[in-house]
Amino acid sequence: MTSPLTSLTVTEMLAALRAGDFSCRELMMAHLDRIQELEPKLHAFISLYPERALVEADAADARYITARKNGRSDLPALLGLPLAVKDLITVAGMRCTCGSKILENFVSPFTATAVQRLIDAGAIVVGKTNTDEFAMGSSTESSAYGPTFNPWDTSRVPGGSSGGSAAAVAARMVPAAIGSDTGGSIRQPASFCGVTGIKPTYGRISRYGLVAYGSSLDSMGVFNRTAAESALLFGIMAGHDPLDATTMDVPVPDISLSEPHDLKGLRVGVPREYFIKGIQPDVADRVKEAVETLRLLGAVVSDISLPHTEYALPVYYLIAPAEASANLARYDSVRFGLREPEEQLWEMFRQTRGKGFGPEVKRRIMLGTYALSAGYYDAYYGQAQKVRTLIKRDFEEAFKSVDVIACPVAPSTAFKLGEHTGDPLAMYLEDVFTLPINLAGVPGLAFPVGFDRNHLPVGIQLLGSHFKEDILFKAAFAYQQITSWHQEIPTLH
Ligand code: GLN
Repeated sequence: MTSPLTSLTVTEMLAALRAGDFSCRELMMAHLDRIQELEPKLHAFISLYPERALVEADAADARYITARKNGRSDLPALLGLPLAVKDLITVAGMRCTCGSKILENFVSPFTATAVQRLIDAGAIVVGKTNTDEFAMGSSTESSAYGPTFNPWDTSRVPGGSSGGSAAAVAARMVPAAIGSDTGGSIRQPASFCGVTGIKPTYGRISRYGLVAYGSSLDSMGVFNRTAAESALLFGIMAGHDPLDATTMDVPVPDISLSEPHDLKGLRVGVPREYFIKGIQPDVADRVKEAVETLRLLGAVVSDISLPHTEYALPVYYLIAPAEASANLARYDSVRFGLREPEEQLWEMFRQTRGKGFGPEVKRRIMLGTYALSAGYYDAYYGQAQKVRTLIKRDFEEAFKSVDVIACPVAPSTAFKLGEHTGDPLAMYLEDVFTLPINLAGVPGLAFPVGFDRNHLPVGIQLLGSHFKEDILFKAAFAYQQITSWHQEIPTLH
């Protein structure tokens, strides 16, 4: 049973807390109960901190009581809101395993900037969610702690790599969860689990405290059930951070979404390269129906072309592993993480990394090291960078004539556990529609637009030009005002 408290939206929860309809402790207990009930079925979390969450909930209640007594209303925006954080992102005093054995006992001494901003706004972190090891994967199956299961069908994957966060929001274990997206890891699990997820513009949200995978592609974002909720959290997380030199000092627009609006004049482009042979027909149909709904709302729809789309997959699978192979060199067991007690230094490195990393991570390190090695650098990494520029230009060209691009998130709905684990290429192919967006650095917002014939959620992604997240939120909000896909709850029989 879903407690009525866990079925409220973030906005409804905060309004009720302010009104004193229930306490932060009651809200937290409702979510902790839900987690306790469903965690054995879903395995959405790697670590949970219920006692710490309740202590913080009591402190938040005290602040509400004092404010009410003094007639004050200037409380932090998210005071008392339960929040989950992907286990690739640091929270001080909590474990950060990155889904890897190599960091099994690593407790972070600091909190990621974007999470700290949410905490400063009153959010309470309940736990760290499951992820593919170092975010390398599209199904959460490469986690060293076992997979997460899709709440709509537990024989299927929730997507990945932020599968734990997406499943936790879909199952109402938390109203909001933080994820990261290097090549689709927010949008694809959002699509597989029927929730809303924003991958911001590269440089919009600080990556300080997000464990590096592909540094030129990594971004942090949030999952909720609706675009209005995500817009609220995004607004708090976004903005320049002196601790991340890649964040841009661009004003964060105020995106308060409460009044229904239409989309009169919004120019929506549908790229023909995203409706290729092999796409599941239900996925193509649901996305086209959603585009029709945008048209009903006043959008002007046109066909567009992103001609270099097919190169995104090979380009990404050179650049991301190349950057990963450099980033993962720091797990040398000297300062933190697993250490195999070997006398010889090189033997210690070899044993620790050999035992600490799983097969997918080793594969990426080998691919990346190869692509960067002398004699191959120009042919692989250098070439990939050039093609990346062409992909970026496709988007720049498209955004001269449209405001928003609408396309599928993934070629299929959630696949079965184990379906692709023996075939890395088949797993990589799941990312064809999400990778180009990270290569171009533009924002993407995924949200549910219906179900396939097995009653599995289908998602759409709306893409915008750099720093135009507000247009995406507004379009999704308008869509969610006249549809109810985002209100469907998995039955979890
Ligand atoms: N599936 C992609 C990969 O394995 C993307 C993962 C991500 O966005 N972190 O690299």
